[in-house]
Amino acid sequence: MAVKTAIIDKALSEGRTVLTEIESKELIKQAGIDVSDTRLATSREEAISVARQLGFPVVLKIASPDVVHKSDAGGVKLGLRTAKQVGKAHDDMLATISQKFPQAVVQGVSVQKMARPGVEVIIGMSKDAQFGPVLMFGLGGILVEILKDVSFRIVPLTGRDAAEMIREIKGYPLLEGYRGQEPVDVANLEGILLKLSEFVEHHPEIKELDLNPVFAYGNGAVAVDARVILEEGK
Ligand code: ADP
Ligand code: MG
Repeated sequence: MAVKTAIIDKALSEGRTVLTEIESKELIKQAGIDVSDTRLATSREEAISVARQLGFPVVLKIASPDVVHKSDAGGVKLGLRTAKQVGKAHDDMLATISQKFPQAVVQGVSVQKMARPGVEVIIGMSKDAQFGPVLMFGLGGILVEILKDVSFRIVPLTGRDAAEMIREIKGYPLLEGYRGQEPVDVANLEGILLKLSEFVEHHPEIKELDLNPVFAYGNGAVAVDARVILEEGK
């Protein structure tokens, strides 16, 4: 059964298939997955006041459906500790983006708390022409980009699928607490995969979904970036 959501309806009614980070996180949150609390600011002053509300340090990111790879574009500023740093990051970021992407529609900046470091994992969904929605799991950073150390399962996932797809990647020992690091809460990651499987099953309009990265901790995990692409007519 397809379930309607306001975020998806709004984007499609505006003729948009790319959700912003803020919209994507809102949607993911509705699936019961923890995301870093992220708010839109439409001016320098608002960015500073949102940062004060959230508490320092914060992260600023460009909020534009036309800038998909935010850090490549100079659209991510991490670890901002003061109002002054936030104000400067805001102005610098908007200047860089308007120079590099003069056509981009910019909504403003997203402001979020700097999440404490964890093991970076990525979780994604794409649609296979034959099998339909497929979930992907992998470790973040170079392990995914260079080594393509990822696993896949077809939606809907069983509990066993979720357990297996995490354990079969080559980098799994990193999640078990490699070299004295705290072991990651793998049961929580399994839960995220199962929640996502159920969510995409009920939302056929979602064409692609990326949580990249999710910071995995000894207790829980939080998605600090999210990207959802929709398809029309579903
Ligand atoms: P991109 O669009 O380039 O993928 P991200 O939102 O993923 O942008 O940000 C780039 C990197 O910055 C992430 O891979 C992560 O390491 C770091 N990062 C992003 N958001 C946060 C956050 N809230 N707390 C801590 N680190 C973050
Ligand atoms: Mg990212």
